[in-house]
Amino acid sequence: MRVARTSAEIRRQLKPLRAGKTIAFVPTMGCLHEGHLSLIKKARSAADIVVVSIYVNPLQFGPNEDLDKYPRTYDADSRLCADAGVDFIFHPETLYPANGPKVTLKAEKLSDCLCGASRPGHFDGVVTVVNILFNIVQPDIAIFGEKDWQQLAIIRRMVSDLQMPIEIIGAETVREADGLAKSSRNRYLSDAERAYAVAVSQALLAMQKLAESGETDIEALKNEANSILLAAGIAAEYLDIRNPVSLKNKRKLNQQPARAFIAARVGETRLIDNMPVLTGHANTEESL
Ligand code: AMP
Repeated sequence: MRVARTSAEIRRQLKPLRAGKTIAFVPTMGCLHEGHLSLIKKARSAADIVVVSIYVNPLQFGPNEDLDKYPRTYDADSRLCADAGVDFIFHPETLYPANGPKVTLKAEKLSDCLCGASRPGHFDGVVTVVNILFNIVQPDIAIFGEKDWQQLAIIRRMVSDLQMPIEIIGAETVREADGLAKSSRNRYLSDAERAYAVAVSQALLAMQKLAESGETDIEALKNEANSILLAAGIAAEYLDIRNPVSLKNKRKLNQQPARAFIAARVGETRLIDNMPVLTGHANTEESL
């Protein structure tokens, strides 16, 4: 496994290897866990060369967010990458000019809702950094987690709208044994908060089950989920059921795909999660 600390270095390393080989890319902010490792595994089986980037991107953090305290665990990350068969780690100091970028991308409509509503500029920061990383690594394939569904939907749209020759692959959310979605931010949770946090995935599962039993009324599903959250003392920042591609709110469950999304603070820690919600008689696979 080789490690590059600058754009020039990773370009130089990859250049002689490109001919006739495919490159799969997994962008991360580090603090790697089994969720990231499942993306790396998919990358390993999809391409000849696997590149993982580790970069905490300042552009996607708001002024009062956790940029400074975001966990940085590079030594452990690099050991995990080596064990997982990663070929290259790209771990840059920065990706922006010293006085900040003057030209950036905008995620437009898909970033108005869900996390975008409370994190203005977040997805602009995401599409800008992913675009920069794509330009540097020039992968054939890039893997993103369904855990950050809105991000995955926006990246797919970026690649399609900007005609980037990159295949985007989504990877299922990896969870703790009790259902909590694995996240680098879970380590902020105290033991007591960790016990309550499971209510987020339980609320999503409850909506999923209710829908499978034939309930099509979105409000009934949301009430069920809210009661589970409230019993755990959690107030949702949002609890929505939306079209998984357009991210538009659904008014009623029907044969079309739908996905439930929750963001909630548990103590100081903001958690997000999502799951598909299908009516008992709809078995259409989501085509994100
Ligand atoms: P992050 O380091 O949080 O920016 O995440 C890097 C990538 O890992 C993103 O594509 C995430 O969606 C993905 N990811 C994070 N947590 C999980 C998880 N629990 N399961 C699957 N993918 C995940």
